[in-house]
Amino acid sequence: MTQRTLVIGGGLAGLLAARRHQRAGRQVVLLEAGRSVGGAIAATTVADVALNAGAEAYSTGSGAVDALVTELGLAGRVQSPREGLGSRVVSDAGAHRAPGASLLGIPSRPLAADARAVLGWPGALRASLERFLPSGYGARPGATVAEVVRDRLGPKVLERLVAPVVGGVHSADPATLEFAAASPQLTTGLAEHGSLTAAVKRLRGGSTASAGTRVHSLSPTMAALPEALAAQILADGGVLRTGVEAASTAHSNSDSDSDSSWTVRTTGDETLQADHLVLACPPDTARGLLLEAVPEIAAAIPQAPSAAVRLVALVLDAPALDAFASGTGALVAPGTTGIRAKALTHASAKWEHVQRLAREALPSAESPHVVRLSYGRPGEELPERGSLVDLALTDASRILGVEVGREHLLDACVIDWDRAMRQSLPGHRAALDALGGLLETLPPARTLELVGSWRAGTGIDAIVRADAASPA
Ligand SMILES: Cc1cc2nc3c(=O)[nH]c(=O)nc-3n(C[C@H](O)[C@H](O)[C@H](O)COP(=O)(O)OP(=O)(O)OC[C@H]3O[C@@H](n4cnc5c(N)ncnc54)[C@H](O)[C@@H]3O)c2cc1C
Repeated sequence: MTQRTLVIGGGLAGLLAARRHQRAGRQVVLLEAGRSVGGAIAATTVADVALNAGAEAYSTGSGAVDALVTELGLAGRVQSPREGLGSRVVSDAGAHRAPGASLLGIPSRPLAADARAVLGWPGALRASLERFLPSGYGARPGATVAEVVRDRLGPKVLERLVAPVVGGVHSADPATLEFAAASPQLTTGLAEHGSLTAAVKRLRGGSTASAGTRVHSLSPTMAALPEALAAQILADGGVLRTGVEAASTAHSNSDSDSDSSWTVRTTGDETLQADHLVLACPPDTARGLLLEAVPEIAAAIPQAPSAAVRLVALVLDAPALDAFASGTGALVAPGTTGIRAKALTHASAKWEHVQRLAREALPSAESPHVVRLSYGRPGEELPERGSLVDLALTDASRILGVEVGREHLLDACVIDWDRAMRQSLPGHRAALDALGGLLETLPPARTLELVGSWRAGTGIDAIVRADAASPA
């Protein structure tokens, strides 16, 4: 008899798992609580311009996402960032070009002119001494990003380079984010190469381009990726149900794998049954869903608190922005005077296709631009929605160094992500290892899978790689 798989959650991780189970010959039904699949990869329209509402690009470092999009027939939609612009880091020390050849904000060459400009001579010299420290210095298991970076590279690297990346990209606080969870690659690299600067140099393969340029996007938006996955799953006979929220699960306690059976109850009181269950929802939801069925596994799911993120997309008619003065955008160091945003992307500078789409959608505008700002650092209250567009215009003017106001605004949109970004607390990696062990040995072994960014690591590339490494 054909085996059945139920997937709970239709973000990227759930869609990929659904496809993998289908390829193993199973009949797949996916339940997604939201109105559409894709999760944090979603699109919206502002002033008739199609824009990314969540993720805007993917890392090309491993080549895994490029391979996937090619396989899905999306190769013709792949976009590279405009060359030569670079991004900026903004702090009380000013706005500087982000140092090239860095990872998680850690520069491979702290004495290079671009790093020196941000750190100052004392900060750069302090960081350059890192290569003389023993590789274990400051890097005990479970150490936070702040502990490792401050101890090894000094406070200036932490405050001016790493904190802006951790806050802007991971929506996390370096003081509570586990280093090993933030960058498994750098953790291994430090042990292998003796210092973080050497590890970054090795991992960047000698490239001096800034990390932000090693990305691709899709035209018109990243939503093309979940859409293509969904179309493939449907074409192969899978069932995708949106607007359906799983409320609880039960597992029939049989010792034989072949008799293994899961029951899922939805908030609409519907009951569905399957041989395999994939939970592709946030870790707190996964824990709640498994609490009665497999309490040991539920208890072993590490809780990664969510960081609420509030985005503002501005479509502006502002010829003064044509010079792309801040390159592709900027990350802002926490505590920078007079700026509340933690990051700004000048999307129409970074992506030529966004500029083209904006010009096509707004033929009467003199010079349309798309700028996206993000708000919400851990432990900080989100700015009010009502006054957010004005705050975003003020912040954008300061970051871009060009005055933009209501007179330039064609339209704006505020987007909230309450539960999508997760902070991996100290001990997260060890807890994931323990969970992996339990999933292999406890009775529902091989019929229960837990996937998602809280397990794979934040970002599209990490999720695609984790799926490729998963058994069928
Ligand atoms: C604003 C923002 C910008 C980002 N930018 C980038 C970027 O540029 N590049 C990059 O690589 N990554 C980026 N990321 C991160 C990346 O998008 C995520 O890591 C990834 O998309 C997460 O996928 P996921 O499947 O693990 O989770 P999600 O996308 O969160 O999907 C989980 C799904 O489960 C559903 N669900 C939850 N509970 C239930 C339930 N009980 N029943 C049914 N369904 C349920 C949810 O509705 C959701 O659709 C960004 C994230 C955010 C929020």
